[in-house]
Amino acid sequence: MMPEQAQTMVDKILQMEVFHELAKREINLTGGEPSQNPHIVEIFKIFRKLTPNVRIHTNLDINSAKSQRWLRLVEIMKLSGRVDFTLYPTVWESRQKPLLIEILGLQDELIVNMIFEKVPDLLSQIELLMAFFGEQEKKYQSVMPLLETYRAKLENLLAENPECNEGEFLKHMEGTENYICTDNFTFGLNMIPGFYVNKNGDRAMNAQPFPKDFNLLECTIPRGTIEIVTVQQTGEITPCCDVGNLKCQPKFGNLLMDSPIEIMQKVDVSRKKMVSGIQKNHQNINNGKAGEWVEEGIPPYCV
Ligand code: SF4
Repeated sequence: MMPEQAQTMVDKILQMEVFHELAKREINLTGGEPSQNPHIVEIFKIFRKLTPNVRIHTNLDINSAKSQRWLRLVEIMKLSGRVDFTLYPTVWESRQKPLLIEILGLQDELIVNMIFEKVPDLLSQIELLMAFFGEQEKKYQSVMPLLETYRAKLENLLAENPECNEGEFLKHMEGTENYICTDNFTFGLNMIPGFYVNKNGDRAMNAQPFPKDFNLLECTIPRGTIEIVTVQQTGEITPCCDVGNLKCQPKFGNLLMDSPIEIMQKVDVSRKKMVSGIQKNHQNINNGKAGEWVEEGIPPYCV
């Protein structure tokens, strides 16, 4: 993406109330690895005209504090942007950990994303974070009780019910806070199960840690609320958090090519398709045909 395209997007968003309201809440620059874009700092500044709350996601798989990718992230943090990262245990010690220490020096909040294929993976990632924050200064000790609660609950679950299904997992973890906010530090955990993807690139009905259960997505759009949209670099507006991996076919138009009126018309057409597709998904799930795609192009796990 180039800064001019970002500016076109911002100009259009300002003309559409529903998108403007969403953008005012939060904008996430994510997908691919935004730090690789040499214009990302300029692009960040343009989106910040819509909201002070612009986040940038990184894999933090960066080998040196001298790298251009890292220097771009530093500039964004100095401009009050917020960097979030996904913890990858394979590069944690060598790459992520040293730079995370730098991030903590530059911003007073942090969201850590954790992708887990098995429940024990989640436990070991929590333990990595505990070892890390245990070595940091007093300001960060507020995160330790939160992490300790997760550690103890997960350890307990694995001892008592290592083959638990998703419902049992959620019941066991019920009420566990994944967010803590003190006077000088805000910390959040985002735990995302991994999914199998078939040879056509379609996500499975089941999450990897809980292979016996369907992992269903409750779509808010047919229920009348748009909670999140994703704008691809091409300008294509995809509903919800679909950065292309869910393959939801009904689109909301193109933020670069379409006029605001055309976009709002496409939102309306797509909403109707979702209502109909989701009804069919319910029927398929109830009739033993879970996983079949319907003609509306709604993923089969969306209900
Ligand atoms: S149908 Fe599924 S993928 Fe499409 S917008 Fe709704 S929840 Fe997202």
